Amino acid sequence: MFSHEVIVVGGGLAGMRAAIEASTHADTVIISRVHPLRSHSGAAQGGINAALANAEAGRDDNWEKHAYDTIKGSDFLADQDAVEILTKEAPERTIEMEHWGCPFSRTDEGKIAQRPFGGAGYPRTCYAADKTGHYLLVTAYEQVVKRNIKVYEEWFVTSLIVENNNVKGVIALDILKGQLEVFKAKTVILATGGTGWIYAKSTNSIINTGSGMAIAYNAGVPLKDMEFIQFHPTALHPTCILISEGARGEGGYLVNSNGERFMQRYAPKSMELAPRDVVSRSIQKEIDEGRGVQGVFVHLDLRHLGKEKILSRLPGIRDISVQFANVDPINELIPVQPAQHYTMGGVDCNAKCETLIRGLYAAGECACVSVHGANRLGGNSLLETLVFGKIAGEQAGSSARKVSPDDDKDNFEQALATDQHRIRELLEGSGDEDPSVLREEMRNTMVEKVFLFRSAGPLTEAFDKIGELKKRFHRLRPIAGTETCNLDLIRAIELEHMLALSEVIIVSALNREESRGSHVRLDFPKRDDARFLKHTLAYHTPDGPRLEYSEVKITKFQPEERKY
Ligand SMILES: Cc1cc2nc3c(=O)[nH]c(=O)nc-3n(C[C@H](O)[C@H](O)[C@H](O)COP(=O)(O)OP(=O)(O)OC[C@H]3O[C@@H](n4cnc5c(N)ncnc54)[C@H](O)[C@@H]3O)c2cc1C
Repeated sequence: MFSHEVIVVGGGLAGMRAAIEASTHADTVIISRVHPLRSHSGAAQGGINAALANAEAGRDDNWEKHAYDTIKGSDFLADQDAVEILTKEAPERTIEMEHWGCPFSRTDEGKIAQRPFGGAGYPRTCYAADKTGHYLLVTAYEQVVKRNIKVYEEWFVTSLIVENNNVKGVIALDILKGQLEVFKAKTVILATGGTGWIYAKSTNSIINTGSGMAIAYNAGVPLKDMEFIQFHPTALHPTCILISEGARGEGGYLVNSNGERFMQRYAPKSMELAPRDVVSRSIQKEIDEGRGVQGVFVHLDLRHLGKEKILSRLPGIRDISVQFANVDPINELIPVQPAQHYTMGGVDCNAKCETLIRGLYAAGECACVSVHGANRLGGNSLLETLVFGKIAGEQAGSSARKVSPDDDKDNFEQALATDQHRIRELLEGSGDEDPSVLREEMRNTMVEKVFLFRSAGPLTEAFDKIGELKKRFHRLRPIAGTETCNLDLIRAIELEHMLALSEVIIVSALNREESRGSHVRLDFPKRDDARFLKHTLAYHTPDGPRLEYSEVKITKFQPEERKY
C-alpha cells in the first residue's frame, strides 16, 4: 500500500500544473498511464488564448472581450462565473509559462506573438510555431522535476476509493508488473484528458479513452453535458491527424471541388475563422450536397501564404501533410474533413474544481467546469488546463492538510479485492467475444449515428447497439497473455469505460431536443432556451444513466442569436 497526501491522476498539462501547485501545500504525486511527456497535451498545435493585446490588430483586446467571445462561442451554455476566472487569469498563467522557459514565437518587438483563431474578435492565440502543446508540456515537466514531484509512470488507475462520500485514494495497476495496488490519499485530482477514442474518426490518440470520467461516474459523480462533442473541421483525410486551426489563422482558405471558398455561404463575416461547430457543419454540408472532393473531403489551401510563412509558422502542418497525405502545402492542396476532436462535457465540478465527492477534484479536458458550454473555442483548452489545473492543485493541496489520516484497513482491502476480482474475470473470460471487434463496432456506431448531424432515429439505433455491445462485453473471450505488461487487459478495461461513456453521450443527446453549439438535431433544428438553457447531468445507475438538469450561471451576457 502506498500513501500520499495528494494524488493527481494524469500527467498532462492539467495534471502537472495541478501537482506543481498542490506540492507547495502537501506531499503530492502524479500517477500516469504514460510518461508525462507522452500525454496528449503534447499534440496540441495552434496555441493558447490570453488577451495580451500584443498583436498590431489586437491592441484593444481585454479579458472581457475574451469572455464574451468564449460565451458566444459556447452558444451561451458556459457558466459565466467560470469563464470570468478563465479569461482574467489567462495572461498571468501564459506569462508564467513564458517565465518558466516556454519558447513562444515572437513579434518584431520581442513580445509573445498572437494569431487569429476561430470565433475570436482579435488575434489572441499565443503560439510556439505549430507545436505549442509540446513546448508547454516540456516546460511544465521541467517544473515537476525541479520540485522533485514523484511520478508513478505507467500506472493505470482503475477506480476511486470512496467512503461516506469522502475520497480515500485510488486503486491502480502497475502496468509493467501487472499488479494492483492501493494508493491512500487525503485528496485526489482527476486530470485524465478526453474521450476521443470512442469515435472511429478522431484527432485524438489511442490513450484518450475517458477513463477518468468513467471512474468518477462509477463512483457516483455525475457527468455533465456529455452530448457536446467537438468535431474539428480540418482533420487530414483519411488519417484524421489534426491540421491546426492555426493554418486558417495564418490565412488558409477552405475550398470545395469547384474551387469555391464556400464559407462565404455560411459565415460571410468570419469566413474560415468562424467557430469550429459552424465550420465543421459547413464542410459536411458541402460534402453531403455533392461539392466534396471524391465525395468525402474538401481542400485547405495554404499556397498563397508562401513558402517562408509556411516553413516558419506551420512547419509541423507541412511535415504532417507530406508524410501522411503525400502533399506539400507549399504548392498543393491539403485534403481535410471533420473529425471528433474534443469533449466539452466531463466530470461535473464547480469553479473550484470540486466534485460531489469530498476531496475529489477534476481539471482539464476530463472536467466540465463549464467554460466551453456547447462549443469550445480553439486555444481555450490549453488555457483551461493551466488555469483550472492551478486552482485544483491549490484546493486539493490546502484541504489535504485538514484531513486526518484514515487507518481503516478493511475499506482499502475490500476496494482492492473488488478490482482484483474484476481483472481475474477479464483474464479468464467466459465466452468468445473479441474485445477489439466490440471496440470497432462501438467506434463506427458513434461516427455513423452520433456525429455532426443527429436525430432521434439514429440516436435510438445507437442506444440499442451500445446496449447490445454491453451485453456482449460480459461474454468476452479470455484475454491472452500474462498479467505482466498486458495492454490487451487495459484495452478491455477501457472498453467497458467507453461503452458506459458512449451510452451517456447518446442518452444526453437524445434528451436534448434542440440544436445548440456542436449538438445539432435535424429534428429540432432551433436552439430552445426555454427548455434547454441548462446543463445535463448524467448519474450512473445499474440500468444506465439517469438524467437531471442544472442551471447555467449567467452574469454579464444575456443569450442572443449567434451570427458570424
Ligand atoms: C491534435 C490536438 C491538437 C490540439 N491543439 C490544441 C491547441 O492548439 N490549443 C488548445 O487550447 N487545445 C488544443 N487541443 C486540446 C488540448 O490539447 C487538450 O484538451 C488538453 O491538452 C488536455 O490536457 P489534459 O491535461 O486535460 O489531458 P491530457 O494531456 O490528455 O493528459 C491526460 C493524462 O491522463 C493520464 N491518464 C488517463 N487515464 C489514466 C488512468 N486511468 N490512469 C492513470 N493515468 C491516466 C494520461 O497518461 C495523461 O498523462 C488539441 C487537441 C488535440 C487532440
